Amino acid sequence: MSGIPKIILGSGKDQSPRRFHPWIFSGAISKISGELADGDVVEVYSNKNEYLCTGHYQKGSIAVRIFSFEQMEPDAAFWKGKIEKAYNYRKAIGIIGNDNTNVYRLVYGEGDGMPGLVIDFYNGTAVLQAHSIGMHREKEKITQALQEIYGASLKAVYDKSKESLSDRYGEKIMNGYLFGDDKEKQVLENGNKIRVDWEEGQKTGFFIDQRENRKLVGQYAKNKKVLDCFCYAGGFSVYALKAGATEVHSVDSSKAAMKLTDDNIRLNFGESAKQTSHVADAFDFLKDHQNEYDVMIIDPPAFAKHRDARHQAMMGYKRLNALAIQGIKPGGIIFTFSCSQVVDKYLFHGAITAAAIETGRTVRILQYLSQPADHPISIYHPEGEYLKGMVLFVE
Ligand code: SAH
Repeated sequence: MSGIPKIILGSGKDQSPRRFHPWIFSGAISKISGELADGDVVEVYSNKNEYLCTGHYQKGSIAVRIFSFEQMEPDAAFWKGKIEKAYNYRKAIGIIGNDNTNVYRLVYGEGDGMPGLVIDFYNGTAVLQAHSIGMHREKEKITQALQEIYGASLKAVYDKSKESLSDRYGEKIMNGYLFGDDKEKQVLENGNKIRVDWEEGQKTGFFIDQRENRKLVGQYAKNKKVLDCFCYAGGFSVYALKAGATEVHSVDSSKAAMKLTDDNIRLNFGESAKQTSHVADAFDFLKDHQNEYDVMIIDPPAFAKHRDARHQAMMGYKRLNALAIQGIKPGGIIFTFSCSQVVDKYLFHGAITAAAIETGRTVRILQYLSQPADHPISIYHPEGEYLKGMVLFVE
């Protein structure tokens, strides 16, 4: 199409986009025609000059993040169509229009055909987080689309891209409202009240991806003493208490996270809840509290953000889970997770097996867990699967 710069791929390098994989790696490029700057929209062609796809260009290992495999102009109508599709998908799976839950992921990057973009919906406020400068430059069109699709039910759009984008693109990335304002900051997840702080909190404010797994913890928590390790805003703790846990201990190394947990416990149960908060390192806490808990949740931050950190991460998962398996009461249940994208489910399984072997205890796998349907994985982009969990029964 005229006006849009072109990238020509090397011989045979067209196979990946023909299989709808959404990234073009820099090594696949043979020629760039015209001036190309970070964030520009670019069309990608085969070495026989056949159109393949359109995406955002950015210098780096992933050179193009593809948002269309059909030739088009990425105008306001195009982005509205994309967001509408994401919206309709969530309506179809029952996450939009749900009386008990008004917090969900509206756009999950590649899983929704919008690489570099995350939009989380918090009871009327859409929190947008761009992971590519090209997507960040589409934010006004996206905000307009959100307003048109949600109408009066959209109170605000907040841009939380400061942490996900560096300033090297020549513009200062600042967090702030693109539309409206929302001081209430309270959502409902499976009927539980949660206070979300998208301005000061981690990521977009809350870990929406654990919604189904929290519900499952509820099924195992009745009359149990529960440890919620790496609790952040206390989501798992709230579900465990709601389900009738005798006592819940919540642990996080961040004071700010513990304050969110305290707020959420109070919000749901008042002052008399059988729960205590501990600002502590989870490894130390586990060492100091052996043979005390019936149920444990182990939900650490990503130990590896890049491939070169994978070995260290594996050692970390092994050490952490060995402490949990060693320390849990006989007949106890452990919910253990990894959100490192570069540690896949097979590697994670290996780390847990190694941890179990180290303790010598009898361990059975009750269930494998993953991310919920509002974090969809494109079949052509298996890298989109990042959250893995296992439920273990320890004798
Ligand atoms: N389980 C949470 C999400 C956990 S995110 C939920 O359901 O919402 C990971 C959390 O681990 C963060 O809140 C971070 O502050 C905390 N953290 C990181 N390193 C830690 C450590 N060594 N000990 C305890 N908490 C830690």
